[in-house]
Amino acid sequence: MPGKRIKTRFAPSPTGFLHIGGVRTALYAELLAKQAGGDFILRIEDTDQSRYVEGAVENLCRTLKQLDITPTEGVWLDDNEKIIQKGDHVPYIQSARKQIHQEYAKQLIEKDKAYYCFCTAERLEEVRKMQELTKRPTGYDGHCRDLSPEEVKTKLDAGENHVIRLKLPNEGEITVSDVIRGDVRFEWKLIDDQVILKSDGMPTYHLAATADDHDMGITHVIRGEEWLSSTPKHLFIYEAMGWEPPAFAHLPLILNPDKTKLSKRQGDVAAEDYLKKGYLPQALTNFLALLGWNPTADREIFSKDELIKLFDLSKVNKAGAIFQLDKLNWLNNHYLREMDDQAYFELVLPYLNSYKANDDLKQRVALLYRERMTLPSEITDEVSYLFDDKLDYSNVSITWKDHSKDEAKERLQASIEWIEQIDDSKQYDAQFIESHIKTFIQENGWGNGDTLWPLRVALSGKEKSPSPFDLIATLGKKQSTSRIKQALQEL
Ligand code: GLU
Repeated sequence: MPGKRIKTRFAPSPTGFLHIGGVRTALYAELLAKQAGGDFILRIEDTDQSRYVEGAVENLCRTLKQLDITPTEGVWLDDNEKIIQKGDHVPYIQSARKQIHQEYAKQLIEKDKAYYCFCTAERLEEVRKMQELTKRPTGYDGHCRDLSPEEVKTKLDAGENHVIRLKLPNEGEITVSDVIRGDVRFEWKLIDDQVILKSDGMPTYHLAATADDHDMGITHVIRGEEWLSSTPKHLFIYEAMGWEPPAFAHLPLILNPDKTKLSKRQGDVAAEDYLKKGYLPQALTNFLALLGWNPTADREIFSKDELIKLFDLSKVNKAGAIFQLDKLNWLNNHYLREMDDQAYFELVLPYLNSYKANDDLKQRVALLYRERMTLPSEITDEVSYLFDDKLDYSNVSITWKDHSKDEAKERLQASIEWIEQIDDSKQYDAQFIESHIKTFIQENGWGNGDTLWPLRVALSGKEKSPSPFDLIATLGKKQSTSRIKQALQEL
């Protein structure tokens, strides 16, 4: 659509939580619009009121906000977390547009592209049972399709309950041209005469989404693959109304590693759960952007600005994208290392609240574990040994390989002296401490292994831990020497 201002939308239903796949949809819609300097709308599709969940809209907007996905138009939260709507097409909450939808439904009837259906739920149930019994495809049997205008009028005048259905062709094919999938053909005879207006006057998704996309000037409809089979019905409405359809792009499914559809059973699907666990917005954005699309084969790290610059809808894969938690973890570690120290402390120090220690020590501990961390919450258990007053050496060997206890003692005693000699201003400088201690080891003609092993175990009470230099620089001189003295007593 050359010359047209690009307009995309994310149109979730407020069902209570934001699916991680929905975040990717929203992100792609945002990337495409922002790349073109166009608009990105957030529209709430709440016409199925039976699925309505209290507070779901606020929750949805809050999660998008945390993820830094920001619409230029539509529904949003103000600074007091109140729902606001901005833009030329208010309301953006679909149920409030129902009169517009009713008007369109009427026009479709006038054009003979839709019809009133008076079938009761009992009749529909019987039809379905019969179809199942005779092993035919289930679906509406077209009973009310050809009622005469007089019959319809009599029933309406009598106040009979009714819905409005699309009058879809019974034969032939329709081709959906999808930006990602190319041409996809559908046979009309396999598509049901869809209800577009329910008996309570509320539109269904198909009419509401199509009408709103048209009225709001949407140029690109980006949504999950599960909506592909609905698109013929939507194209039918566009054509019946004489509207120009937007471009459609149906995104690949997100799959578990075993190639089944990503489901709650195999892990979290709610975006807010990831945020609560401590996954960073940048990591999630980076990760989700690359689920099904990658601008270059040789890079995995992309900032939001780079994603906006590079995004190409036509390069999104057709095949399902596998959700690799390892990769998300790796990205989270990357962004934790990248963030500035102050922001990092704000994120991590709350997880050290249970330890009685001053903030300086806590900060040094947090920095020590930064490289190894996937999620901030992991730190709580991993670092407890750095806060303990007494270490338990009963399950570790302080002596190095076949060395004797006396040899270990000799090295630990020397270590205390070396540490005491460190100038106070250098006591938190791991690099300095390393060269300082290594010089002494050499002077004594000792080996690194046989000296540093007892030293490290004495400092940590563990056979696996960060290096003794890092440990000294974290604990400081006093704590370090007191730990070594404890270990000497144990020997
Ligand atoms: N309301 C639909 C949903 O909940 C949106 C489908 C679409 O984008 O057209 O996913």
